[in-house]
Amino acid sequence: MKEKELKNIVECEHCGLFVDISEKKEDNLLKCPRCNTKLPLTNSYSFDALYYCISAFFVFILLNIYPLVSISIVGKDLKTTLIDTVLILYKEGFFFVSFVILFTIILSPLCSMFIIIYSFIHNHTRFELFPNYYIYNLFHFFKNWSFIDVFIVSIIVTYIKLIGMVSTTKFDIGFYLILFYLFLFYMANRKFNIKKVFEEK
Ligand SMILES: [Zn+2]
Repeated sequence: MKEKELKNIVECEHCGLFVDISEKKEDNLLKCPRCNTKLPLTNSYSFDALYYCISAFFVFILLNIYPLVSISIVGKDLKTTLIDTVLILYKEGFFFVSFVILFTIILSPLCSMFIIIYSFIHNHTRFELFPNYYIYNLFHFFKNWSFIDVFIVSIIVTYIKLIGMVSTTKFDIGFYLILFYLFLFYMANRKFNIKKVFEEK
Protein backbone atom coordinates (compact mmCIF):
# COMPACT_ATOMS: atom_id res chain seq x y z
CA MET A 1 0.00 0.00 0.00
CA LYS A 2 1.27 3.46 -0.84
CA GLU A 3 2.09 5.93 1.88
CA LYS A 4 -0.62 8.31 0.70
CA GLU A 5 -3.28 5.64 1.05
CA LEU A 6 -2.00 4.70 4.50
CA LYS A 7 -2.56 8.24 5.70
CA ASN A 8 -6.26 7.78 5.13
CA ILE A 9 -6.44 4.82 7.46
CA VAL A 10 -7.36 5.76 10.99
CA GLU A 11 -7.33 3.47 13.95
CA CYS A 12 -10.33 3.56 16.26
CA GLU A 13 -9.01 4.43 19.73
CA HIS A 14 -11.71 2.40 21.38
CA CYS A 15 -11.84 -0.94 19.59
CA GLY A 16 -8.75 -0.82 17.38
CA LEU A 17 -10.58 -1.18 14.07
CA PHE A 18 -8.80 0.35 11.08
CA VAL A 19 -11.14 2.56 9.12
CA ASP A 20 -10.56 3.96 5.64
CA ILE A 21 -11.69 7.57 5.74
CA SER A 22 -10.42 8.69 2.33
CA GLU A 23 -13.89 9.07 0.82
CA LYS A 24 -15.58 10.78 3.72
CA LYS A 25 -13.11 13.56 4.31
CA GLU A 26 -15.65 16.42 4.51
CA ASP A 27 -17.59 14.88 7.32
CA ASN A 28 -16.41 16.31 10.61
CA LEU A 29 -18.10 13.70 12.73
CA LEU A 30 -16.66 10.43 11.58
CA LYS A 31 -17.61 7.46 13.66
CA CYS A 32 -16.24 3.95 13.92
CA PRO A 33 -18.58 1.55 12.08
CA ARG A 34 -18.06 -1.14 14.71
CA CYS A 35 -18.37 0.68 18.06
CA ASN A 36 -19.57 4.17 17.06
CA THR A 37 -16.67 5.97 18.76
CA LYS A 38 -15.67 9.32 17.27
CA LEU A 39 -12.62 8.88 15.07
CA PRO A 40 -9.61 11.18 15.19
CA LEU A 41 -9.46 13.39 12.11
CA THR A 42 -6.41 13.09 9.92
CA ASN A 43 -5.93 16.63 8.76
CA SER A 44 -5.91 18.34 12.11
CA TYR A 45 -3.17 18.95 14.57
CA SER A 46 -3.07 21.78 16.99
CA PHE A 47 -0.54 23.48 19.17
CA ASP A 48 -2.67 22.86 22.25
CA ALA A 49 -0.55 19.90 23.30
CA LEU A 50 2.56 22.07 23.20
CA TYR A 51 0.97 24.77 25.36
CA TYR A 52 -0.26 22.19 27.87
CA CYS A 53 3.25 20.72 28.08
CA ILE A 54 4.94 24.06 28.67
CA SER A 55 2.40 24.91 31.38
CA ALA A 56 2.92 21.48 32.93
CA PHE A 57 6.67 22.11 33.18
CA PHE A 58 6.09 25.32 35.12
CA VAL A 59 3.65 23.59 37.43
CA PHE A 60 6.19 20.80 37.89
CA ILE A 61 8.81 23.30 39.09
CA LEU A 62 6.34 24.78 41.60
CA LEU A 63 5.41 21.26 42.62
CA ASN A 64 8.92 20.74 43.91
CA ILE A 65 8.86 23.89 45.99
CA TYR A 66 5.54 23.48 47.79
CA PRO A 67 4.79 20.52 50.08
CA LEU A 68 2.10 17.99 49.18
CA VAL A 69 0.92 17.27 52.68
CA SER A 70 1.75 18.87 55.99
CA ILE A 71 1.38 16.99 59.21
CA SER A 72 1.87 18.23 62.72
CA ILE A 73 2.78 15.75 65.42
CA VAL A 74 3.11 17.03 68.99
CA GLY A 75 3.90 20.54 67.91
CA LYS A 76 6.32 19.48 65.20
CA ASP A 77 5.49 20.38 61.61
CA LEU A 78 6.38 17.91 58.91
CA LYS A 79 6.11 18.94 55.29
CA THR A 80 6.78 16.66 52.35
CA THR A 81 7.33 17.63 48.75
CA LEU A 82 7.27 15.25 45.79
CA ILE A 83 11.06 14.87 45.67
CA ASP A 84 11.12 14.37 49.46
CA THR A 85 8.89 11.30 49.17
CA VAL A 86 11.43 9.69 46.85
CA LEU A 87 14.39 10.68 49.05
CA ILE A 88 12.73 9.57 52.28
CA LEU A 89 11.85 6.17 50.84
CA TYR A 90 15.39 5.81 49.53
CA LYS A 91 16.94 6.70 52.88
CA GLU A 92 14.61 4.30 54.67
CA GLY A 93 15.88 1.49 52.49
CA PHE A 94 12.92 1.13 50.14
CA PHE A 95 15.16 1.34 47.08
CA PHE A 96 12.77 -0.38 44.70
CA VAL A 97 9.71 1.64 45.77
CA SER A 98 11.63 4.90 45.59
CA PHE A 99 12.87 3.99 42.12
CA VAL A 100 9.33 3.10 40.97
CA ILE A 101 8.01 6.45 42.22
CA LEU A 102 10.92 8.34 40.68
CA PHE A 103 10.35 6.62 37.35
CA THR A 104 6.55 6.55 37.11
CA ILE A 105 5.69 9.86 38.78
CA ILE A 106 8.61 12.07 37.84
CA LEU A 107 10.70 10.75 34.94
CA SER A 108 8.11 9.14 32.66
CA PRO A 109 5.66 12.06 32.56
CA LEU A 110 8.55 14.49 32.03
CA CYS A 111 10.06 12.36 29.26
CA SER A 112 6.76 11.94 27.48
CA MET A 113 6.24 15.71 27.57
CA PHE A 114 9.79 16.32 26.37
CA ILE A 115 8.96 14.10 23.41
CA ILE A 116 5.82 16.13 22.67
CA ILE A 117 7.85 19.36 22.68
CA TYR A 118 10.63 17.73 20.67
CA SER A 119 8.09 16.55 18.07
CA PHE A 120 6.88 20.09 17.49
CA ILE A 121 10.44 21.40 17.22
CA HIS A 122 11.35 18.55 14.90
CA ASN A 123 8.32 19.21 12.74
CA HIS A 124 9.05 22.90 12.33
CA THR A 125 12.81 23.03 12.09
CA ARG A 126 13.75 19.55 10.82
CA PHE A 127 16.01 19.28 13.84
CA GLU A 128 16.50 15.59 14.48
CA LEU A 129 18.05 13.81 17.43
CA PHE A 130 16.79 10.27 16.84
CA PRO A 131 15.01 8.43 14.05
CA ASN A 132 11.22 8.94 14.05
CA TYR A 133 10.29 5.34 14.82
CA TYR A 134 12.50 5.53 17.90
CA ILE A 135 10.74 8.66 19.17
CA TYR A 136 7.40 7.07 18.37
CA ASN A 137 8.15 3.99 20.47
CA LEU A 138 9.67 6.00 23.31
CA PHE A 139 6.61 8.23 23.46
CA HIS A 140 4.28 5.27 23.92
CA PHE A 141 6.63 3.66 26.40
CA PHE A 142 6.78 6.71 28.68
CA LYS A 143 3.09 7.44 28.29
CA ASN A 144 2.24 3.93 29.46
CA TRP A 145 4.57 4.21 32.45
CA SER A 146 3.20 7.49 33.78
CA PHE A 147 1.14 6.94 36.90
CA ILE A 148 0.56 10.37 38.41
CA ASP A 149 -3.10 9.50 39.01
CA VAL A 150 -2.18 6.41 41.04
CA PHE A 151 0.18 8.51 43.13
CA ILE A 152 -2.56 11.07 43.86
CA VAL A 153 -4.93 8.31 44.97
CA SER A 154 -2.23 6.92 47.28
CA ILE A 155 -1.73 10.38 48.83
CA ILE A 156 -5.47 10.60 49.50
CA VAL A 157 -5.53 7.10 51.04
CA THR A 158 -2.55 7.97 53.26
CA TYR A 159 -4.22 11.20 54.24
CA ILE A 160 -7.42 9.43 55.27
CA LYS A 161 -5.44 6.91 57.31
CA LEU A 162 -3.55 9.68 59.10
CA ILE A 163 -6.70 11.47 60.23
CA GLY A 164 -7.05 10.85 63.91
CA MET A 165 -3.53 9.50 64.32
CA VAL A 166 -1.82 12.86 64.31
CA SER A 167 -3.03 16.21 65.56
CA THR A 168 -3.43 17.93 62.21
CA THR A 169 -3.02 16.82 58.66
CA LYS A 170 -3.78 18.95 55.69
CA PHE A 171 -3.30 18.90 51.97
CA ASP A 172 -0.81 21.60 51.13
CA ILE A 173 -0.42 23.75 48.02
CA GLY A 174 1.63 21.00 46.38
CA PHE A 175 -1.32 18.63 46.44
CA TYR A 176 -3.50 21.05 44.46
CA LEU A 177 -0.57 21.67 42.15
CA ILE A 178 -0.17 17.96 41.45
CA LEU A 179 -3.88 17.75 40.60
CA PHE A 180 -3.40 20.61 38.17
CA TYR A 181 -0.24 18.96 36.84
CA LEU A 182 -2.17 15.74 36.22
CA PHE A 183 -4.83 17.70 34.35
CA LEU A 184 -2.24 19.41 32.13
CA PHE A 185 -0.43 16.13 31.50
CA TYR A 186 -3.69 14.41 30.61
CA MET A 187 -4.76 17.22 28.27
CA ALA A 188 -1.34 17.36 26.58
CA ASN A 189 -1.57 13.64 25.81
CA ARG A 190 -5.16 13.90 24.73
CA LYS A 191 -4.51 16.75 22.32
CA PHE A 192 -1.32 15.26 20.98
CA ASN A 193 -1.22 12.83 18.12
CA ILE A 194 2.32 11.77 17.40
CA LYS A 195 1.37 10.30 14.02
CA LYS A 196 0.03 13.64 12.78
CA VAL A 197 3.10 15.56 13.80
CA PHE A 198 5.52 13.29 11.98
CA GLU A 199 3.28 12.99 8.93
CA GLU A 200 2.97 16.69 8.23
CA LYS A 201 6.12 17.61 6.42
ZN1 LIG B 1 -14.32 1.23 17.20
